Amino acid sequence: MEDTFRYADEFGPARIIHIYRPSLALKAIVVVDNTACGAAVGGIRMAPDVSVDECFRLARAMTWKNAAAGLPHGGGKSVIFGDPRMAPAAKEQLIRGFADAIRDIADYIPGPDMGTDERCMAWVREEAGRAIGLPSVVGGIPLDEIGATGFGLAACVDVAREFIGLDLHGARVAVQGFGAVGKHAARFLAEKGAILVAASDTNGTLVDASGLDVGRLIALKQSGQSLRDYDKGTKLASDAILDVDCDIWIPAARPDVVRADNVSRLRTRLMPQGANIPCTAEAEQALHARGILVVPDFIANAGGVICAATEYRGGTQRNAFDYIDERIRDNTRAVLEESRRDKTLPRAAGFALAERRVRSAMQMKRWR
Ligand code: NAD
Repeated sequence: MEDTFRYADEFGPARIIHIYRPSLALKAIVVVDNTACGAAVGGIRMAPDVSVDECFRLARAMTWKNAAAGLPHGGGKSVIFGDPRMAPAAKEQLIRGFADAIRDIADYIPGPDMGTDERCMAWVREEAGRAIGLPSVVGGIPLDEIGATGFGLAACVDVAREFIGLDLHGARVAVQGFGAVGKHAARFLAEKGAILVAASDTNGTLVDASGLDVGRLIALKQSGQSLRDYDKGTKLASDAILDVDCDIWIPAARPDVVRADNVSRLRTRLMPQGANIPCTAEAEQALHARGILVVPDFIANAGGVICAATEYRGGTQRNAFDYIDERIRDNTRAVLEESRRDKTLPRAAGFALAERRVRSAMQMKRWR
């Protein structure tokens, strides 16, 4: 038998629960990592090859992410073994069975992750009595539709720019990955006076130093077309976005897109990270050495998780935007001030902030 105590350290995990229901062929794992800041929030991942190891690492990442975001939530995660593309009726049955099994794990609040979506969350809430990332008809806030993460990125940029003396009015923005995060970040920054000079998707990069029309690009994508179908600007290969001369370069596509072998191509002053881990550790260090200000993913892209926490409390879209604005501004300022004072990478300052919050919440608990 695996020794699951091998994960145990001073922060957790508080519980690792294996769930097995033979009649449904349901095999799942829930990790409640640390609940000092509040009930653990974390998604349900469905994949054929998930493991207790993956589940623990994701739960721990949620502990830091939620604390860094300043939310009254700890970290947790769950995994269901199975192919998420199975027949819809079988998937509903499996997820409902899982949700029923976690009903009494009251300090774990599930949300969507790879292989599950808002519809699955409606089933989970019906069976377990709680879930976030719900469809709007049952109280959910559609975070990708309203651009919660992009809105948070724009708030982050508005604070970070002070640290490099950048005026947002006329600031040149390049966005890698014009999807749910990237297009809304461009939209909210344009509202603050910035100019989108380049955007990319899997089909290529579109560049126009005189400025792209963000609204038209969003409409183009919504109609199923790609950035290449825009009638103006220069069309280049997808990775040409790396070479664009700009003030703000937003990664909003995939992990590890900026690496030691291509980091020298970036010509920007600020990188608020929309995507999760868009830079390798080496590349992030190199950017820092060149004086390019990087605001790490878990600080800059926390808009989505803050929105979900608002939904859980029955808040509205307007409440969510207010909360995102306040939390991301405060966190960005705290992290960048600490990084400047201690001469550390912003990522290290962000981790230190999250760890301090968790430690201090743990001090107030009777059982820890
Ligand atoms: P999405 O699928 O809506 O958009 C991704 C976009 O990136 C697409 O337009 C796609 O064409 C493009 N893309 C993919 N590979 C590319 C490449 N190599 N070069 C250029 N463009 C490429 O996804 P999303 O929800 O916007 O998420 C983007 C990233 O942000 C992911 O890393 C995700 O984990 C992270 N993130 C998302 C949220 C959220 O609220 N959606 C929150 C936090 C972090």
